[in-house]
Parts: sequence; C-alpha cells; structure tokens
Amino acid sequence: MIKMENNVKVVDFILKNDECIGCAICADVCLEDAIEVNEVDFYPLWDKKKCVGCRECEEQCPTEAIKVFVMKL
Ligand code: SF4
Ligand code: SF4
Repeated sequence: MIKMENNVKVVDFILKNDECIGCAICADVCLEDAIEVNEVDFYPLWDKKKCVGCRECEEQCPTEAIKVFVMKL
C-alpha cells in the first residue's frame, strides 16, 4: 500500500480506456469513495473533490490503466 504523504495536491487522474477491463477493483480499494464504476460502459468515474491522492487505485489496478498525478506542496 502506498502511504499518504502530507501536503499533497491531487492534480489529475488519467484512465487508459483501452486497458481498463471494468473490474471495479479501483472503486473497491478507494477508501474515499472517489471512484464509481459507470454502469453503462463500466469505466471508472473519478471525483477529484474526494480524492486524497493516495494512489491505491493505481497500485491495485491489474492492468495499470490508472495514473494518478499528485504534486508535493
Ligand atoms: S482497476 Fe483498472 S481495470 Fe479495473 S476498473 Fe479500475 S481502471 Fe479498470
Ligand atoms: S488516489 Fe486514492 S483517494 Fe484518489 S481515487 Fe485513487 S484510491 Fe481513491
């Protein structure tokens, strides 16, 4: 598990749609409920306001489809 760092600003969340298999692991591991899986196409939807930049979703995604960009303040 990647530890949360202090004073981190979440910048962006990039999803590589062609690599996502719609497994919803990212949504399951997000403790902030910042990811919901779209019921239409099964792609994850990210809520920047809830995201704390822990990058657990990125680490647990089996296909490396997620990249979370954070900036140290
Ligand atoms: S964990 Fe990865 S492959 Fe699974 S739904 Fe999330 S982004 Fe897609
Ligand atoms: S970086 Fe952490 S808080 Fe943000 S969406 Fe991923 S698991 Fe959730």
